[in-house]
Amino acid sequence: MKNKEEQKEIAKKRIEKLFEEAEKTKSQKLANRYVELARKIAMKLNLRMPKKFKRKFCKHCYNYFKSKNYRVRTRDGKLIYYCFECKKYTRIPLS
Ligand SMILES: [Zn+2]
Repeated sequence: MKNKEEQKEIAKKRIEKLFEEAEKTKSQKLANRYVELARKIAMKLNLRMPKKFKRKFCKHCYNYFKSKNYRVRTRDGKLIYYCFECKKYTRIPLS
């Protein structure tokens, strides 16, 4: 039985890998599925989704942001993503 810290390290690596795959695949469906899996892993171990990944998908419908399914703007020190899938905005503070 591995300890919690080890489990978290493994989970983090799996999440990294899933986002790598999501970036690589040409399939939107598959990319969304990877996001879902990564979220499940993070939730299970109470991990916070790393910031660099948070801006990769819509926080409302978990649509992975690929080339043409979103728009991004900067305003008041925030990145504002508009998701074409659910037509909602995701705001991410720049820091
Ligand atoms: Zn969305």
